[in-house]
Amino acid sequence: MKHLLWACTLLFTFVAAAQDTYIHSGKLLDTKTGKVLNDQTIIVSGKKIREIRDGFVQPARTSDSLIDLRNMFVLPGLTDMHVHLESETNPSKYLQRFTNDPADDAFNSVAFAETTLLAGFTTVRDLGGSGVNISLRDAINKGKVKGPRIFTSGKSLATTGGHADPSNGMNREFAGDPGPAEGVVNSVEDAAKAVRQRYKNGADLIKITATGGVLSVAKSSSNPQFTLEEIKAIVDIAKDYGFHVAAHAHGDEGMQRAIKGGVTTIEHGTLMSDATMELMKKHGTYLVPTITAGKEVTEKAEIENYYPELVVPKAREIGPQLQNTFGKAYKKGVKIAFGTDAGVFEHGKNGKEFGYMVEAGMPALEAIQSATIVPAQILKMEKELGQLAPGFFADIIAVKEDPTSNVKTLEDVQFVMKEGKVYKHK
Ligand SMILES: [Zn+2]
Repeated sequence: MKHLLWACTLLFTFVAAAQDTYIHSGKLLDTKTGKVLNDQTIIVSGKKIREIRDGFVQPARTSDSLIDLRNMFVLPGLTDMHVHLESETNPSKYLQRFTNDPADDAFNSVAFAETTLLAGFTTVRDLGGSGVNISLRDAINKGKVKGPRIFTSGKSLATTGGHADPSNGMNREFAGDPGPAEGVVNSVEDAAKAVRQRYKNGADLIKITATGGVLSVAKSSSNPQFTLEEIKAIVDIAKDYGFHVAAHAHGDEGMQRAIKGGVTTIEHGTLMSDATMELMKKHGTYLVPTITAGKEVTEKAEIENYYPELVVPKAREIGPQLQNTFGKAYKKGVKIAFGTDAGVFEHGKNGKEFGYMVEAGMPALEAIQSATIVPAQILKMEKELGQLAPGFFADIIAVKEDPTSNVKTLEDVQFVMKEGKVYKHK
């Protein structure tokens, strides 16, 4: 009895000392309804939002803290559905495949993750690297590294010589013959092994490269690289593990196979025909536009020796088309999820994508929704991510202006909280 009493006293002391954070928000965006609310108080308890109240409510206890964002516009932390946190573009990138150890990539990724978080992106989907991205996710979740919440594919799946074959461009001595464990698939049997290996490695989802790509040392930017049967097999096995499948695709034929094969998102979608847009709508497939990558790659292709010879014409061909395709797809009613391909350009510039989306005809509010409530649906986190509401993670950012009228304000995020912890307050 005495012990029980003692335990109760201890528990009571602990609860009483717990600290809530009150955030006075001048303007607050309800991402679900699209409404802007004035003078709200968000009450954060632990990692979650406990309550949102009208007016500026004073903290209930002396142990509670108050954050003043009365002159700010407050919205949920943003999600970028296409990043590569293990690396960042630079003219030595192709050489670094031979010079960097995984430990080098890991240390570099720490800075990239923090930069991304401080840009207001509290959640990302990492679509491919060597597997350092899985360790990075775990280190962030344990609080050892500052970064966004990561959902990662681990190493992408490709076909031999395809975009994301890890040995592309290497001489025969180095190239070897990577198989499903390394993410190279050439049959339905390989597909099962490759997906199961990703599960074993600790991935959260599967990424495939359904067509050629721009930055791989290979000739075609857009040819189909998987058969329909292989894609179907990947998607089917992925379902067993609760994984959704993201498909990189520039060319139309490979894109059609990916959609028919049941992937959830098409990344880039550059050469998408009208018929394929209709197919996307029919299957409910999302387009992740990555316009920023298109713009940045186009610019870098003109810097001498920045990219290998094989890459330059592909960058010139594909890069400038992404924004236009996005605009057409949006107007046709294709579902859009925000994604930039950061890493292909410098991390932290993710917010530029909003401006490009609006420029192509998407209203700013919808662009913001594509980076909040839409990703939450894809990630099956719609009760916890993408909204400021009770029970949701306290992933909260603030900007100077109303982003629904000036979306570029999202390029200069002033305040970042993730899971109740403040990482930036300018
Ligand atoms: Zn990518």
